Amino acid sequence: MPHSQVLPLHQAPAPGRDRKARIALRSPMELQLQLPSLLAASLDRDHVLDQYFVYISLDLKPASIAVVGHGYHYRQGKDSKHQAHYQLKIDDQDLARLQMTRARPFSEAELAWIEQTLSYLLLPLRHAFAYAQMQDLALHDKLTGVGNRRAFEVQGERLLKSALRHNRPCCLLLLDIDHFKRINDEHGHERGDLALIETAQRLNDQLRGSDLLCRWGGEEFIALLPETHLPGARIVAERIRHAFVEQTINGLALSVSIGLVSLLRDESLQELFHRADQALYRAKQEGRNRVCVDGQERR
Ligand code: GH3
Ligand code: MG
Ligand code: MG
Repeated sequence: MPHSQVLPLHQAPAPGRDRKARIALRSPMELQLQLPSLLAASLDRDHVLDQYFVYISLDLKPASIAVVGHGYHYRQGKDSKHQAHYQLKIDDQDLARLQMTRARPFSEAELAWIEQTLSYLLLPLRHAFAYAQMQDLALHDKLTGVGNRRAFEVQGERLLKSALRHNRPCCLLLLDIDHFKRINDEHGHERGDLALIETAQRLNDQLRGSDLLCRWGGEEFIALLPETHLPGARIVAERIRHAFVEQTINGLALSVSIGLVSLLRDESLQELFHRADQALYRAKQEGRNRVCVDGQERR
């Protein structure tokens, strides 16, 4: 059984006597009967915390609750004057930090009650964090750390829909390292792997934070460039191609071929990809180390 801890950090201002404090806090028995099953019903972090917030709100009427931990930030409500802070730990490992605020001060009885409710939040929250971490891993390419094909399908679809809905430009760039088989054959698979890691980094360096870069598979990478018209994307693609020509990767001279397309009206991700793949095919046919553009553009 994991050792769970709810550590009260501090209350500000200090808890005082609150004449208006409600006495009708649900009993420890009620908490034990209701909270564990309520909080175990979902593995989604937001949903677990939403449920917790709704449950305690009935008795406590907090103004806000915030939870921070493992790169995650949850917030409900608007901060108010009186605050209570807790460090949530399991097996001596920090899980999250929680802050609750309210216009009225928290009474000692209420603080003890909060601690008790939090003891039922710990395990469901840990499971939800673990689940989020697993989902995150499932969307990343293990070797290079960029998104994988699945991530591209999920996030790319979202970006594409948004571009179509708002009638915004969007470009797709498909990149394949030239003669990569030779690298493996002549220098070994490990050097090949290192080259793929460096390639992903080099691509990341050339792209914007809002672009979606993923490893499509093998030595192929794909990037979706939202808010980018074809001329701008062509500059990016040429810059990427040059970055490989100008600088070796771990002493290996590599070049890349790129297929570039711009999103047409009502085009699906598959159709967009298909055109990029054809453009890439042409780049290979025409001698590699080049950018081939499908010139169609939305009017
Ligand atoms: P082209 O210029 O036509 O693209 O030639 P190519 O040799 O790059 O293309 P081909 O598709 O024939 O070979 C791709 C090679 O990429 C084959 C495979 O050994 C290598 N490869 C794919 N995935 C990995 C990987 O994860 N690590 C390493 N080291 N090599 C990989
Ligand atoms: Mg290939
Ligand atoms: Mg290749």
